[in-house]
Amino acid sequence: MEVGFKRGVYLPELDLWMDSLRRRDFGLITHAHSDHTARHTRPVLTRNTGLLLSEYLEKSDPLYLEYHEPLETKDYAITLYPAGHCLGSAQALVESKATGVKLLYTGDIKVRSSPTNEPIEPVPCDILVIEATYGKPQYTFPPQEQVLANAFQILHSWIAKGSKPVVQLWRLGKSQELLHLLLGEGFEVAVEESVYRIARIYEAGGVEFPKSYGCFDGSWVDGQVLICPPGRKSQVGLDGQRGLRFMELTGWAAGDDHPWVRRADSSLPYSDHADFDELVEYVKVVAPKQVYTVNGFPELAAHLRHLGYPAVHLNGQGRTVDAGFQMKML
Ligand SMILES: [Zn+2]
Repeated sequence: MEVGFKRGVYLPELDLWMDSLRRRDFGLITHAHSDHTARHTRPVLTRNTGLLLSEYLEKSDPLYLEYHEPLETKDYAITLYPAGHCLGSAQALVESKATGVKLLYTGDIKVRSSPTNEPIEPVPCDILVIEATYGKPQYTFPPQEQVLANAFQILHSWIAKGSKPVVQLWRLGKSQELLHLLLGEGFEVAVEESVYRIARIYEAGGVEFPKSYGCFDGSWVDGQVLICPPGRKSQVGLDGQRGLRFMELTGWAAGDDHPWVRRADSSLPYSDHADFDELVEYVKVVAPKQVYTVNGFPELAAHLRHLGYPAVHLNGQGRTVDAGFQMKML
């Protein structure tokens, strides 16, 4: 089965697009992050991804798939499995009816626990197309509990000193995950408006937060933590506020080649993506005969080749092969 990658994953023999950034008549959307979506005429997605994208896809005619329930076409069956990355996120197993070959496209995956996401299920396959966001050995994160304990301690100490802690997180996914974790730890939390709207959708999708939280209206309540996406500081009225302290929770904090993390007072390695070791482990568990890596770094494919897997990084410039392996392996 051939695999192409150009602003989305394309299986030419099945004429199937997955996570295409261009509008298609028919296309799978693995999750609601904007770097995986387009306004397809007939998008295929989970119900929770549909809830998160309902305004974005208001002119589309979505086809909702439950996890584990195959969608059959003449040429193939697609089955979605949880990806652990954000609410509703899915991996797609595509089985060719002509050849019986099983291809798994992971989309973005998180293997560590999360109180808000459906836990990931590894899916054995013949061909694996896996994200390589943190596909470089330097992006190996410490244990999540350790990072969180550290984060909580820093936030407590900032509050004790009368500072105003702002946790900077992307609005969909990690914001709701950290909101849940901070509330569970007893913090009073307010969230920026877009984070609030998405948190309410999470509740509609079945997530129960440990206690109530507020939508930030510009007035600071003593002792609270604010969750605010990067770049929204001015819009929510933080400019000119005294005593602000910024914390950033991002996988990039594990490396040293992303200077923007230094803007925060504290940058800790916490991600909604798998780290390098977890990506490698995932490949071992699903035991493919051929691997394609997409997004992120080519080092993951190189490392997998050392381990004996035929692995190719698709860099988005068409169907580029970086190591002399044939595209058509099966
Ligand atoms: Zn994502």
